Amino acid sequence: MPMSIVEKLKELLPESQVSTQADHLNVASHDESTLEPVTPLVVVWTKSTDEIVAVVKLCYETKTPLTTRGAGSALEGSTIPTANGIVLDVSQMTEIVEFAPDDLQVKVQPGIIYDDLNLHLKQESLFFPPSPGGSGDIATIGGMVSTNASGIYSVKYGGTKEYILELEVVIGDGTFMKLGTKAIKRSSGYNLVDLIAGSEGTLAVITSVTLKLAGLPEGRLKTAYKFESANNAAQAVSEICKYGIDVAAVEFLDKNVMTALNLLKDYKLEEVPALFLEFHGSDEVLSSNNEMAASICEELGGSELKLADGQNPWEIRHYVTDSIKHRKPGFTILRNDVAFPISKLPEMVNYCHELSKEYNILIHAFGHVGLGLLHALILADKSDENEWSQAIKMNDLIIKKTLELGGTISGEHGIGLGHKDLFELEHGKSVLLMQMIKKQFDPHNILNPGKIFDL
Ligand SMILES: Cc1cc2nc3c(=O)[nH]c(=O)nc-3n(C[C@H](O)[C@H](O)[C@H](O)COP(=O)(O)OP(=O)(O)OC[C@H]3O[C@@H](n4cnc5c(N)ncnc54)[C@H](O)[C@@H]3O)c2cc1C
Repeated sequence: MPMSIVEKLKELLPESQVSTQADHLNVASHDESTLEPVTPLVVVWTKSTDEIVAVVKLCYETKTPLTTRGAGSALEGSTIPTANGIVLDVSQMTEIVEFAPDDLQVKVQPGIIYDDLNLHLKQESLFFPPSPGGSGDIATIGGMVSTNASGIYSVKYGGTKEYILELEVVIGDGTFMKLGTKAIKRSSGYNLVDLIAGSEGTLAVITSVTLKLAGLPEGRLKTAYKFESANNAAQAVSEICKYGIDVAAVEFLDKNVMTALNLLKDYKLEEVPALFLEFHGSDEVLSSNNEMAASICEELGGSELKLADGQNPWEIRHYVTDSIKHRKPGFTILRNDVAFPISKLPEMVNYCHELSKEYNILIHAFGHVGLGLLHALILADKSDENEWSQAIKMNDLIIKKTLELGGTISGEHGIGLGHKDLFELEHGKSVLLMQMIKKQFDPHNILNPGKIFDL
Protein backbone atom coordinates (compact mmCIF):
# COMPACT_ATOMS: atom_id res chain seq x y z
CA MET A 1 0.00 0.00 0.00
CA PRO A 2 1.35 3.49 -0.83
CA MET A 3 2.21 5.65 2.17
CA SER A 4 -0.41 8.22 3.18
CA ILE A 5 0.45 11.92 3.35
CA VAL A 6 0.36 11.77 7.13
CA GLU A 7 2.83 8.86 7.19
CA LYS A 8 5.12 10.73 4.81
CA LEU A 9 4.96 13.85 7.03
CA LYS A 10 5.91 11.72 10.03
CA GLU A 11 9.00 10.63 8.09
CA LEU A 12 9.97 14.24 7.42
CA LEU A 13 9.25 15.72 10.86
CA PRO A 14 9.44 14.52 14.47
CA GLU A 15 6.16 12.76 15.31
CA SER A 16 5.27 15.39 17.95
CA GLN A 17 5.12 17.99 15.15
CA VAL A 18 2.45 16.17 13.13
CA SER A 19 -1.11 15.76 14.39
CA THR A 20 -4.47 14.46 13.26
CA GLN A 21 -5.92 14.85 16.75
CA ALA A 22 -9.46 16.30 16.70
CA ASP A 23 -8.67 19.24 19.02
CA HIS A 24 -5.65 20.29 16.92
CA LEU A 25 -7.64 19.99 13.67
CA ASN A 26 -10.41 22.01 15.27
CA VAL A 27 -8.10 24.91 16.19
CA ALA A 28 -6.65 24.88 12.66
CA SER A 29 -10.09 24.81 11.00
CA HIS A 30 -10.95 28.48 11.48
CA ASP A 31 -9.71 32.02 11.84
CA GLU A 32 -11.43 34.92 13.64
CA SER A 33 -13.94 35.48 10.85
CA THR A 34 -17.52 34.31 11.20
CA LEU A 35 -17.14 32.14 8.07
CA GLU A 36 -17.73 28.38 8.25
CA PRO A 37 -14.70 26.41 9.53
CA VAL A 38 -13.17 23.64 7.38
CA THR A 39 -11.38 20.73 9.07
CA PRO A 40 -8.01 19.96 7.46
CA LEU A 41 -6.46 16.51 7.07
CA VAL A 42 -3.48 17.19 9.32
CA VAL A 43 -1.63 19.96 11.15
CA VAL A 44 2.17 20.28 11.22
CA TRP A 45 4.24 22.62 13.37
CA THR A 46 7.52 23.52 11.69
CA LYS A 47 10.56 24.72 13.61
CA SER A 48 12.99 25.60 10.79
CA THR A 49 13.20 26.69 7.16
CA ASP A 50 14.50 23.24 6.18
CA GLU A 51 11.38 21.64 7.62
CA ILE A 52 9.18 24.09 5.68
CA VAL A 53 11.07 23.29 2.44
CA ALA A 54 10.55 19.55 3.05
CA VAL A 55 6.80 19.95 3.71
CA VAL A 56 6.22 22.21 0.69
CA LYS A 57 8.18 19.82 -1.58
CA LEU A 58 5.99 16.95 -0.41
CA CYS A 59 2.85 19.01 -1.08
CA TYR A 60 4.16 19.90 -4.54
CA GLU A 61 4.93 16.28 -5.41
CA THR A 62 1.57 15.02 -4.13
CA LYS A 63 -0.47 18.09 -5.17
CA THR A 64 -1.69 18.48 -1.60
CA PRO A 65 -3.16 21.89 -0.59
CA LEU A 66 -1.27 23.70 2.17
CA THR A 67 -2.43 26.64 4.26
CA THR A 68 0.15 28.48 6.35
CA ARG A 69 -1.04 29.56 9.78
CA GLY A 70 0.37 32.15 12.18
CA ALA A 71 -2.01 33.01 15.02
CA GLY A 72 -5.20 32.50 13.00
CA SER A 73 -6.49 35.99 13.87
CA ALA A 74 -7.36 36.88 10.26
CA LEU A 75 -10.87 38.20 9.73
CA GLU A 76 -11.81 37.21 6.17
CA GLY A 77 -11.28 33.44 6.12
CA SER A 78 -7.79 33.63 4.59
CA THR A 79 -6.53 31.17 7.22
CA ILE A 80 -9.37 28.65 6.76
CA PRO A 81 -7.77 25.53 5.23
CA THR A 82 -8.97 23.13 2.53
CA ALA A 83 -10.70 19.92 3.60
CA ASN A 84 -8.05 17.51 2.26
CA GLY A 85 -5.17 19.84 3.04
CA ILE A 86 -2.29 20.40 5.42
CA VAL A 87 -2.11 23.30 7.86
CA LEU A 88 1.50 24.41 8.26
CA ASP A 89 1.62 26.21 11.59
CA VAL A 90 4.65 28.49 12.08
CA SER A 91 3.64 29.84 15.50
CA GLN A 92 6.57 28.06 17.19
CA MET A 93 9.10 29.87 14.99
CA THR A 94 9.45 32.90 17.26
CA GLU A 95 13.16 33.70 17.25
CA ILE A 96 14.78 37.07 16.72
CA VAL A 97 17.45 35.99 14.23
CA GLU A 98 19.45 39.24 14.04
CA PHE A 99 18.97 42.59 15.75
CA ALA A 100 20.89 45.54 14.28
CA PRO A 101 19.79 48.58 16.34
CA ASP A 102 22.37 50.86 14.68
CA ASP A 103 20.74 50.13 11.30
CA LEU A 104 17.23 50.22 12.82
CA GLN A 105 16.63 46.69 11.53
CA VAL A 106 15.58 43.32 12.87
CA LYS A 107 15.35 39.89 11.24
CA VAL A 108 12.76 37.56 12.78
CA GLN A 109 11.19 34.18 12.26
CA PRO A 110 7.58 34.46 11.02
CA GLY A 111 5.81 33.23 14.17
CA ILE A 112 6.96 35.97 16.55
CA ILE A 113 4.03 37.94 17.99
CA TYR A 114 3.80 41.68 17.32
CA ASP A 115 3.73 42.78 20.99
CA ASP A 116 6.56 40.38 21.95
CA LEU A 117 8.75 41.81 19.20
CA ASN A 118 8.09 45.36 20.33
CA LEU A 119 8.86 44.47 23.94
CA HIS A 120 12.28 43.33 22.80
CA LEU A 121 12.88 46.36 20.55
CA LYS A 122 11.97 48.75 23.38
CA GLN A 123 15.32 47.99 25.08
CA GLU A 124 16.95 49.96 22.25
CA SER A 125 14.19 52.62 22.11
CA LEU A 126 12.96 51.24 18.78
CA PHE A 127 9.62 49.88 17.60
CA PHE A 128 7.77 48.34 14.65
CA PRO A 129 4.87 50.80 14.41
CA PRO A 130 1.80 49.38 12.58
CA SER A 131 0.06 48.37 15.80
CA PRO A 132 -3.10 46.34 14.89
CA GLY A 133 -5.90 47.82 17.02
CA GLY A 134 -7.20 44.73 18.76
CA SER A 135 -4.80 41.91 17.87
CA GLY A 136 -1.26 43.12 18.55
CA ASP A 137 -1.10 40.65 21.42
CA ILE A 138 -1.73 37.66 19.12
CA ALA A 139 -0.90 38.54 15.49
CA THR A 140 2.37 37.10 14.15
CA ILE A 141 4.77 39.06 11.95
CA GLY A 142 4.35 36.49 9.12
CA GLY A 143 0.57 36.96 9.33
CA MET A 144 0.94 40.75 9.35
CA VAL A 145 3.14 40.65 6.24
CA SER A 146 0.74 38.27 4.49
CA THR A 147 -2.25 40.54 5.11
CA ASN A 148 -0.30 43.82 4.92
CA ALA A 149 -1.78 44.66 8.31
CA SER A 150 -2.09 48.20 9.58
CA GLY A 151 -3.10 49.77 12.83
CA ILE A 152 -3.67 52.76 15.01
CA TYR A 153 -0.23 54.30 14.27
CA SER A 154 -0.32 53.69 10.50
CA VAL A 155 -1.65 57.19 9.80
CA LYS A 156 1.75 58.58 10.81
CA TYR A 157 4.10 55.64 10.28
CA GLY A 158 2.51 53.56 7.48
CA GLY A 159 1.38 49.94 7.29
CA THR A 160 3.40 46.70 7.43
CA LYS A 161 4.49 46.87 3.78
CA GLU A 162 6.40 50.10 4.36
CA TYR A 163 8.70 48.26 6.80
CA ILE A 164 9.64 45.06 4.95
CA LEU A 165 13.21 45.02 3.65
CA GLU A 166 13.94 41.37 3.03
CA LEU A 167 11.88 38.19 2.99
CA GLU A 168 13.01 34.60 2.94
CA VAL A 169 10.35 32.44 1.34
CA VAL A 170 9.58 28.98 0.02
CA ILE A 171 7.54 29.07 -3.19
CA GLY A 172 5.06 26.45 -4.36
CA ASP A 173 7.57 23.94 -5.81
CA GLY A 174 9.59 23.94 -2.57
CA THR A 175 12.33 26.33 -3.78
CA PHE A 176 13.80 28.54 -1.04
CA MET A 177 14.76 32.10 -2.01
CA LYS A 178 15.56 35.51 -0.62
CA LEU A 179 13.63 38.58 -1.83
CA GLY A 180 14.71 42.21 -1.34
CA THR A 181 17.86 43.43 0.45
CA LYS A 182 18.76 45.28 3.63
CA ALA A 183 18.98 48.61 1.75
CA ILE A 184 16.09 50.87 2.73
CA LYS A 185 15.82 52.42 -0.76
CA ARG A 186 15.95 50.21 -3.85
CA SER A 187 15.45 50.65 -7.59
CA SER A 188 16.70 47.22 -8.53
CA GLY A 189 14.21 45.23 -10.57
CA TYR A 190 10.70 44.10 -9.79
CA ASN A 191 9.56 44.58 -6.22
CA LEU A 192 8.72 40.99 -5.27
CA VAL A 193 8.71 41.88 -1.57
CA ASP A 194 5.68 44.10 -2.14
CA LEU A 195 4.04 41.33 -4.13
CA ILE A 196 4.26 38.92 -1.20
CA ALA A 197 2.91 41.56 1.23
CA GLY A 198 -0.85 41.07 1.29
CA SER A 199 -0.78 37.85 -0.76
CA GLU A 200 -2.42 35.85 2.08
CA GLY A 201 -0.12 32.83 1.82
CA THR A 202 -1.07 32.19 -1.83
CA LEU A 203 2.39 32.81 -3.34
CA ALA A 204 4.90 31.54 -0.79
CA VAL A 205 5.50 30.49 2.80
CA ILE A 206 7.47 33.23 4.55
CA THR A 207 10.30 31.78 6.62
CA SER A 208 11.89 35.04 7.82
CA VAL A 209 11.21 38.77 7.71
CA THR A 210 13.74 41.60 7.95
CA LEU A 211 12.01 44.76 9.10
CA LYS A 212 12.99 48.39 9.15
CA LEU A 213 12.23 49.99 12.54
CA ALA A 214 11.33 53.42 13.90
CA GLY A 215 12.63 55.25 16.97
CA LEU A 216 10.27 55.42 19.93
CA PRO A 217 8.78 58.91 20.19
CA GLU A 218 10.22 61.37 22.71
CA GLY A 219 6.79 62.01 24.19
CA ARG A 220 3.16 61.05 23.67
CA LEU A 221 -0.10 62.90 24.23
CA LYS A 222 -3.38 61.01 24.16
CA THR A 223 -6.72 62.73 24.03
CA ALA A 224 -10.34 62.15 23.05
CA TYR A 225 -13.11 64.30 21.56
CA LYS A 226 -16.86 63.83 21.49
CA PHE A 227 -19.26 65.14 18.82
CA GLU A 228 -22.97 65.61 18.45
CA SER A 229 -23.00 63.97 15.05
CA ALA A 230 -20.92 61.24 13.45
CA ASN A 231 -20.74 63.40 10.34
CA ASN A 232 -18.95 66.19 12.25
CA ALA A 233 -16.51 63.73 13.82
CA ALA A 234 -15.70 62.36 10.35
CA GLN A 235 -15.41 65.91 8.99
CA ALA A 236 -12.92 66.74 11.76
CA VAL A 237 -10.68 63.82 10.71
CA SER A 238 -10.76 64.92 7.11
CA GLU A 239 -9.85 68.51 8.16
CA ILE A 240 -7.06 67.36 10.52
CA CYS A 241 -5.50 65.45 7.60
CA LYS A 242 -6.06 68.32 5.16
CA TYR A 243 -4.20 70.77 7.42
CA GLY A 244 -1.27 68.36 7.67
CA ILE A 245 -1.49 68.06 11.46
CA ASP A 246 0.97 65.39 12.50
CA VAL A 247 -1.34 62.90 14.26
CA ALA A 248 0.21 59.58 15.30
CA ALA A 249 -3.23 57.98 15.68
CA VAL A 250 -6.80 59.05 15.08
CA GLU A 251 -9.54 56.51 15.62
CA PHE A 252 -13.26 57.05 15.09
CA LEU A 253 -15.87 55.26 17.21
CA ASP A 254 -19.54 55.83 16.49
CA LYS A 255 -22.30 55.99 19.11
CA ASN A 256 -23.16 52.28 18.71
CA VAL A 257 -19.55 51.29 19.33
CA MET A 258 -19.48 53.36 22.55
CA THR A 259 -22.71 51.64 23.70
CA ALA A 260 -21.27 48.19 22.93
CA LEU A 261 -18.10 49.04 24.91
CA ASN A 262 -20.12 50.12 27.95
CA LEU A 263 -22.17 46.93 27.77
CA LEU A 264 -19.09 44.69 27.68
CA LYS A 265 -16.69 46.56 29.99
CA ASP A 266 -18.81 49.06 31.93
CA TYR A 267 -16.42 51.89 30.95
CA LYS A 268 -19.17 54.47 31.62
CA LEU A 269 -18.31 56.24 28.36
CA GLU A 270 -20.64 58.95 27.10
CA GLU A 271 -22.55 57.26 24.29
CA VAL A 272 -21.75 59.77 21.55
CA PRO A 273 -19.57 59.69 18.39
CA ALA A 274 -15.92 60.11 19.40
CA LEU A 275 -12.37 60.46 18.15
CA PHE A 276 -9.40 59.03 20.07
CA LEU A 277 -6.15 60.80 19.18
CA GLU A 278 -2.46 60.50 19.95
CA PHE A 279 0.42 62.84 19.08
CA HIS A 280 4.14 62.06 19.18
CA GLY A 281 7.13 64.37 19.72
CA SER A 282 8.67 66.91 22.10
CA ASP A 283 6.46 68.83 24.57
CA GLU A 284 6.36 71.79 22.18
CA VAL A 285 5.33 69.64 19.18
CA LEU A 286 2.75 67.81 21.27
CA SER A 287 1.07 70.96 22.46
CA SER A 288 1.03 72.73 19.10
CA ASN A 289 -0.42 69.67 17.28
CA ASN A 290 -2.93 69.16 20.07
CA GLU A 291 -4.01 72.82 19.95
CA MET A 292 -4.51 72.75 16.17
CA ALA A 293 -6.51 69.50 16.31
CA ALA A 294 -8.56 70.86 19.24
CA SER A 295 -9.51 74.01 17.33
CA ILE A 296 -10.67 71.95 14.33
CA CYS A 297 -12.72 69.65 16.57
CA GLU A 298 -14.24 72.63 18.42
CA GLU A 299 -15.15 74.42 15.17
CA LEU A 300 -17.13 71.31 14.28
CA GLY A 301 -18.95 71.29 17.62
CA GLY A 302 -16.60 68.82 19.31
CA SER A 303 -15.42 69.03 22.90
CA GLU A 304 -13.02 67.04 25.03
CA LEU A 305 -14.33 63.62 26.02
CA LYS A 306 -13.33 62.98 29.61
CA LEU A 307 -12.33 59.37 30.18
CA ALA A 308 -12.46 58.05 33.73
CA ASP A 309 -9.19 58.44 35.67
CA GLY A 310 -6.48 56.14 34.40
CA GLN A 311 -8.48 55.00 31.37
CA ASN A 312 -6.25 54.53 28.36
CA PRO A 313 -8.03 55.20 25.04
CA TRP A 314 -6.11 52.33 23.41
CA GLU A 315 -7.18 49.83 26.03
CA ILE A 316 -10.77 50.85 25.31
CA ARG A 317 -10.13 50.66 21.55
CA HIS A 318 -8.69 47.14 21.98
CA TYR A 319 -12.10 45.81 23.05
CA VAL A 320 -14.16 47.30 20.19
CA THR A 321 -14.49 44.09 18.13
CA ASP A 322 -15.11 41.94 21.20
CA SER A 323 -17.77 44.31 22.50
CA ILE A 324 -19.66 44.22 19.19
CA LYS A 325 -19.33 40.42 19.08
CA HIS A 326 -20.97 40.13 22.50
CA ARG A 327 -23.59 42.84 22.10
CA LYS A 328 -26.42 40.57 20.95
CA PRO A 329 -26.02 36.91 21.93
CA GLY A 330 -26.70 34.60 18.97
CA PHE A 331 -26.15 37.38 16.43
CA THR A 332 -23.35 37.24 13.85
CA ILE A 333 -21.01 39.97 12.62
CA LEU A 334 -20.77 40.68 8.93
CA ARG A 335 -17.63 42.76 8.47
CA ASN A 336 -15.84 44.96 6.00
CA ASP A 337 -12.65 47.02 6.03
CA VAL A 338 -13.15 49.44 3.19
CA ALA A 339 -10.68 52.25 2.43
CA PHE A 340 -11.14 55.37 0.29
CA PRO A 341 -9.74 58.91 -0.20
CA ILE A 342 -9.89 60.74 3.13
CA SER A 343 -12.29 63.51 1.99
CA LYS A 344 -14.95 60.81 1.43
CA LEU A 345 -15.00 59.78 5.10
CA PRO A 346 -18.08 61.86 6.12
CA GLU A 347 -19.99 60.60 3.06
CA MET A 348 -19.11 56.97 3.84
CA VAL A 349 -20.03 57.26 7.54
CA ASN A 350 -23.38 58.87 6.61
CA TYR A 351 -24.01 56.21 3.98
CA CYS A 352 -23.48 53.36 6.47
CA HIS A 353 -25.78 54.97 9.05
CA GLU A 354 -28.48 55.66 6.45
CA LEU A 355 -28.33 52.01 5.33
CA SER A 356 -28.66 50.90 8.93
CA LYS A 357 -31.85 52.97 9.29
CA GLU A 358 -33.27 51.83 5.96
CA TYR A 359 -32.77 48.12 6.65
CA ASN A 360 -33.32 48.40 10.41
CA ILE A 361 -30.14 46.41 11.09
CA LEU A 362 -27.48 47.55 13.57
CA ILE A 363 -24.18 48.93 12.21
CA HIS A 364 -21.10 49.81 14.29
CA ALA A 365 -18.70 52.12 12.44
CA PHE A 366 -15.12 52.65 13.58
CA GLY A 367 -11.56 52.39 12.33
CA HIS A 368 -8.15 53.85 11.57
CA VAL A 369 -9.92 56.74 9.87
CA GLY A 370 -6.83 58.89 9.35
CA LEU A 371 -5.96 56.35 6.63
CA GLY A 372 -9.45 56.66 5.14
CA LEU A 373 -10.16 53.18 6.52
CA LEU A 374 -13.55 52.34 7.96
CA HIS A 375 -15.07 49.23 9.48
CA ALA A 376 -18.87 49.16 9.42
CA LEU A 377 -19.67 45.97 11.31
CA ILE A 378 -23.17 44.73 10.66
CA LEU A 379 -24.76 42.74 13.48
CA ALA A 380 -27.57 40.47 12.31
CA ASP A 381 -29.41 37.25 13.13
CA LYS A 382 -28.00 34.58 10.79
CA SER A 383 -30.80 32.16 11.68
CA ASP A 384 -33.33 34.64 10.25
CA GLU A 385 -32.90 34.05 6.51
CA ASN A 386 -34.50 37.31 5.49
CA GLU A 387 -32.47 39.44 7.94
CA TRP A 388 -29.21 37.73 6.96
CA SER A 389 -29.76 38.25 3.23
CA GLN A 390 -30.56 41.93 3.93
CA ALA A 391 -27.33 42.19 5.93
CA ILE A 392 -25.34 40.70 3.05
CA LYS A 393 -26.99 43.17 0.70
CA MET A 394 -25.99 46.07 3.00
CA ASN A 395 -22.41 44.85 3.11
CA ASP A 396 -22.25 44.62 -0.68
CA LEU A 397 -23.71 48.12 -0.99
CA ILE A 398 -21.05 49.53 1.36
CA ILE A 399 -18.31 47.91 -0.70
CA LYS A 400 -19.81 49.02 -4.02
CA LYS A 401 -20.13 52.60 -2.73
CA THR A 402 -16.46 52.48 -1.70
CA LEU A 403 -15.43 51.37 -5.18
CA GLU A 404 -17.52 54.15 -6.74
CA LEU A 405 -15.58 56.62 -4.60
CA GLY A 406 -12.26 55.29 -5.87
CA GLY A 407 -11.59 53.08 -2.86
CA THR A 408 -10.73 49.45 -2.18
CA ILE A 409 -12.62 46.44 -0.79
CA SER A 410 -9.90 45.82 1.77
CA GLY A 411 -7.68 48.35 3.51
CA GLU A 412 -6.09 45.82 5.86
CA HIS A 413 -7.80 42.44 6.41
CA GLY A 414 -7.41 41.04 2.90
CA ILE A 415 -9.85 39.29 0.60
CA GLY A 416 -9.64 35.69 1.86
CA LEU A 417 -12.94 33.95 1.22
CA GLY A 418 -15.11 36.75 2.59
CA HIS A 419 -14.79 39.23 -0.28
CA LYS A 420 -13.81 37.00 -3.19
CA ASP A 421 -17.10 37.55 -5.00
CA LEU A 422 -16.54 41.31 -5.40
CA PHE A 423 -12.80 41.16 -6.12
CA GLU A 424 -13.15 41.42 -9.90
CA LEU A 425 -15.36 44.46 -9.54
CA GLU A 426 -12.37 46.29 -8.06
CA HIS A 427 -9.58 44.86 -10.22
CA GLY A 428 -11.19 44.08 -13.58
CA LYS A 429 -8.87 42.49 -16.13
CA SER A 430 -5.84 42.74 -13.87
CA VAL A 431 -7.19 39.66 -12.03
CA LEU A 432 -5.98 37.67 -15.07
CA LEU A 433 -2.48 39.02 -14.52
CA MET A 434 -2.67 38.09 -10.84
CA GLN A 435 -3.74 34.57 -11.79
CA MET A 436 -0.73 34.26 -14.12
CA ILE A 437 1.60 35.50 -11.38
CA LYS A 438 0.13 32.95 -8.96
CA LYS A 439 0.90 30.15 -11.44
CA GLN A 440 4.56 31.20 -11.65
CA PHE A 441 4.98 31.08 -7.87
CA ASP A 442 2.78 28.07 -7.35
CA PRO A 443 2.49 25.86 -10.46
CA HIS A 444 0.31 23.19 -8.81
CA ASN A 445 -1.94 25.69 -7.00
CA ILE A 446 -1.22 24.15 -3.60
CA LEU A 447 -0.56 27.34 -1.60
CA ASN A 448 -3.75 28.41 0.17
CA PRO A 449 -5.85 27.62 -2.93
CA GLY A 450 -9.18 29.35 -3.44
CA LYS A 451 -8.25 32.45 -1.45
CA ILE A 452 -8.49 35.95 -3.03
CA PHE A 453 -9.58 34.41 -6.40
CA ASP A 454 -10.04 31.01 -8.01
CA LEU A 455 -7.74 29.72 -10.72
C1 LIG B 1 -9.85 41.65 17.59
C2 LIG B 1 -9.09 41.76 16.31
C3 LIG B 1 -8.63 43.01 15.90
C4 LIG B 1 -7.91 43.15 14.71
N1 LIG B 1 -7.43 44.36 14.38
C5 LIG B 1 -6.71 44.50 13.24
C6 LIG B 1 -6.17 45.78 12.87
O1 LIG B 1 -6.32 46.79 13.54
N2 LIG B 1 -5.47 45.85 11.71
C7 LIG B 1 -5.25 44.75 10.92
O2 LIG B 1 -4.57 44.89 9.89
N3 LIG B 1 -5.74 43.55 11.25
C8 LIG B 1 -6.46 43.39 12.38
N4 LIG B 1 -6.95 42.15 12.72
C9 LIG B 1 -6.75 41.01 11.81
C10 LIG B 1 -5.50 40.15 12.08
O3 LIG B 1 -5.07 40.25 13.43
C11 LIG B 1 -4.36 40.53 11.14
O4 LIG B 1 -4.73 40.26 9.80
C12 LIG B 1 -3.04 39.81 11.43
O5 LIG B 1 -2.03 40.39 10.66
C13 LIG B 1 -3.09 38.31 11.15
O6 LIG B 1 -1.96 37.70 11.76
P1 LIG B 1 -2.00 36.14 12.14
O7 LIG B 1 -0.68 35.76 12.67
O8 LIG B 1 -3.16 35.87 13.02
O9 LIG B 1 -2.22 35.52 10.71
P2 LIG B 1 -3.11 34.27 10.31
O10 LIG B 1 -4.54 34.52 10.57
O11 LIG B 1 -2.53 33.03 10.88
O12 LIG B 1 -2.87 34.28 8.73
C14 LIG B 1 -3.35 35.34 7.94
C15 LIG B 1 -3.00 35.07 6.47
O13 LIG B 1 -1.59 35.06 6.32
C16 LIG B 1 -1.12 33.80 5.87
N5 LIG B 1 0.13 33.53 6.59
C17 LIG B 1 0.34 33.56 7.93
N6 LIG B 1 1.63 33.33 8.19
C18 LIG B 1 2.26 33.15 7.00
C19 LIG B 1 3.59 32.85 6.61
N7 LIG B 1 4.56 32.71 7.48
N8 LIG B 1 3.85 32.72 5.28
C20 LIG B 1 2.88 32.86 4.34
N9 LIG B 1 1.60 33.13 4.67
C21 LIG B 1 1.30 33.28 5.98
C22 LIG B 1 -2.24 32.82 6.18
O14 LIG B 1 -2.22 31.71 5.29
C23 LIG B 1 -3.46 33.69 5.98
O15 LIG B 1 -3.76 33.79 4.62
C24 LIG B 1 -7.68 42.00 13.91
C25 LIG B 1 -8.13 40.74 14.32
C26 LIG B 1 -8.83 40.62 15.50
C27 LIG B 1 -9.28 39.25 15.91
